[in-house]
Amino acid sequence: MLDRASDNELTAWDRDHFFHPSTHMAQHARGETPNRIITGAEGVYITDRAGKRSLDAFAGLYCVNVGYGRKTITDAIAAQAAALPYYHAYVGHGSEPSIRLAKMIIDRAPKGMSRVFFGLSGSDANETNLKLVWYVNNVLGRPEKKKIISRWRGYHGSGLMTGSLTGLAAFHNLFDLPKPPVLHTEAPYYFRRADRSQSEDAFSQTCADKLEELILAEGPDTVAAFIGEPVLGTGGIVPPPRGYWDKIQAVLAKYDIMLIADEVITGFGRLGSMFGSDHYGIRPDLITIAKGLTSAYAPLSGVIVSEKVWRILEQGSDEFGAIGHGWTYSSHPLCAAAGVANLELVDELGLVDNAREVGAYFRKGLADALGSHRHVGEVRGEGLLAAVEFVRDRDDRTFFDTSEKVGPRVAAAMLDNGVIGRAMPQADILGFAPPLCLTREEADVVVDAARKAVEGTLGR
Ligand code: PMP
Repeated sequence: MLDRASDNELTAWDRDHFFHPSTHMAQHARGETPNRIITGAEGVYITDRAGKRSLDAFAGLYCVNVGYGRKTITDAIAAQAAALPYYHAYVGHGSEPSIRLAKMIIDRAPKGMSRVFFGLSGSDANETNLKLVWYVNNVLGRPEKKKIISRWRGYHGSGLMTGSLTGLAAFHNLFDLPKPPVLHTEAPYYFRRADRSQSEDAFSQTCADKLEELILAEGPDTVAAFIGEPVLGTGGIVPPPRGYWDKIQAVLAKYDIMLIADEVITGFGRLGSMFGSDHYGIRPDLITIAKGLTSAYAPLSGVIVSEKVWRILEQGSDEFGAIGHGWTYSSHPLCAAAGVANLELVDELGLVDNAREVGAYFRKGLADALGSHRHVGEVRGEGLLAAVEFVRDRDDRTFFDTSEKVGPRVAAAMLDNGVIGRAMPQADILGFAPPLCLTREEADVVVDAARKAVEGTLGR
């Protein structure tokens, strides 16, 4: 049916009936924003209905880590669909791929992790995290310890509580968010937030001091958990300043506050380590995973629970009975089959090492091409996550007025050059998160397109 629809028909249906996420609704309905219909993909390239091919240097939304067109994954999904498309996981039920996948995740997870609870999206996994944190403190007999501290510029989802955790105004405005008991603290964003005279270490200490001040002002007995991405993602692709995680963890330990590492982007290799927690010496109580778990061949997320937390959950069920939490699609067999095949492929192709090696090559290429441009303030990143931040003036770091839409204009120019990057929200930042199978030659194509886009938009 859809195949036989004309381009005009499809576009009309789209404008009239499809409510797109993160889209200007009125402009889209009026036909003022692009309506790009993607029809196929192979390797790091996607193709649209008009036949235009683009190198997807954002891996969809930081998720198609193994690249497109991986037959072992699509075959695994098809075989599972034929054998058993669905059965639930309530009261001890399961399917073989779900069990296998839980084991594979724990084998790869940072030390001390013990169980996996499956969901479908990063947002629902973070909802699970919050509920587990509250459950734990209720079991431990400290019902007043419930506040959650997140960071400005963090991204943790767009549900009611997870949208509250997210520290970006665009996800709060008009939705009456953030809701208590979520609080926000300083963003570990050295380039924008540090005093110019401060070293990275000193700025990390400032972040830890501000966290401690907030905890003391609220009362340590009321603060349950801290959540953070190892590298800020949607808030600008910002690796932490030196020493940040050690200093933050020292404060959390002092006040017995749990740590949730949101590894939805960084899990399964993106930074050149299997997990961002290993990369930065983070010792979380709970870890959020999604995206790279299945490379988005099917939707799947999870919460990795530490042995320490698991013991308290067991104690809770012995005292209060089975946990009243779950989704119909927790550990959906098709998604779990995709996850197993995907993680096998990540190992087989050595994609974690590739992210580290080609990531370093790619980021050096970006820095060489753009690092000294008069409107580039910073080129930064880790593994295969990278960002270029634009400024009006390099010396005093003044930013362009957001109405000038510099980031979106550069991203649009790059797309004209055949490469997809992402204009990050709320700043003039061009972000990159290519598939982890990116080759050096493909990295060169991205760098060249980025350089041309920047020079075409902002001059040489
Ligand atoms: N956490 C992080 C770090 C994310 O980047 C995202 C999505 N970009 C989420 C949570 C939410 O995931 P989802 O969109 O699947 O709900």
